[in-house]
Amino acid sequence: MNNLSNINTIKDIMKRHGFTFSKSLGQNFLINPSVCPRIAEMGNANQDFGIIEIGTGFGVLTVELAKRAKKVVAIEIDSKLIPVLNETLSEYNNVKVINEDVLKVDLAKLIQEEFKGMNVAVCANLPYYITSPIIMGLLEQRLPIQSITVMVQKEAAQRLCAKMGTRDCGAVTAAVCYYSDPKVLFQVSRGSFMPAPNVDSTVIRLDIKQETPRNVENEQHLFKLIRAAFSQRRKTLANPVSSLMGIKKEVVIAALAEVGLKPTARAEELTLEQFILLSNQLVKEA
Ligand code: SAM
Repeated sequence: MNNLSNINTIKDIMKRHGFTFSKSLGQNFLINPSVCPRIAEMGNANQDFGIIEIGTGFGVLTVELAKRAKKVVAIEIDSKLIPVLNETLSEYNNVKVINEDVLKVDLAKLIQEEFKGMNVAVCANLPYYITSPIIMGLLEQRLPIQSITVMVQKEAAQRLCAKMGTRDCGAVTAAVCYYSDPKVLFQVSRGSFMPAPNVDSTVIRLDIKQETPRNVENEQHLFKLIRAAFSQRRKTLANPVSSLMGIKKEVVIAALAEVGLKPTARAEELTLEQFILLSNQLVKEA
């Protein structure tokens, strides 16, 4: 198969298969030939690893993963791409394509069935409209994976990899910090895609922690608190936490004081450890 990041190859495939890009499925395909090999190399695609890819497009990244990894299972929602992939991936016998919505796939079962005896990593150029649900889903399910290496919108990368306690952070930042060590790998300009999106992109890697913080009384409560606090991120967190969690405001303020925080504390000022202490305190007082 010709180089899949070549515009003439893409146009030829589109013509022969009658394929048109779907904006609603986030179909911006990579045409910069240097990007996919770098994602594969920095994303653990090697002979010790099985790789889950999310969103194949024509297979430009899938091919680079298949060349390096022991096995690739690629999940693509658009059934119009399946005949294209049968053609573009025909040389690789270590690739399985699953025509499904990734948010509906039982990934724990998939890993158990497809990757016996292998380390597992996720690599993808994500469909941007569902970046957060995909990443949150991968993290919260506590899947037996080593890393998640994904290209996301530049602004999403800033939020995902932000330091807690800074203006860039959000509820998703807390989840990322809780479950993983995030790193920004490299930037990709909007001109590297066809069609070109309106924003630049960033490739990030989340190295999954072997152990999450041990001092958490109730994980569900912690994440409920974090989501409530960030629902009005620039405002005093006592108000949304009180109304969304059904706790009296005086109780929230007393808990804040107990863990050394001001009654006017805002979500974006707290570290993950401070959220954990506050959650533990509220659980204790409940
Ligand atoms: N990997 C290709 C590349 O780098 O050129 C395509 C990336 S494109 C940004 C995102 C891909 O995700 C598209 O092929 C799109 O059809 C697919 N996609 C969108 N929503 C999906 C979902 N819910 N589950 C699985 N794949 C999805």
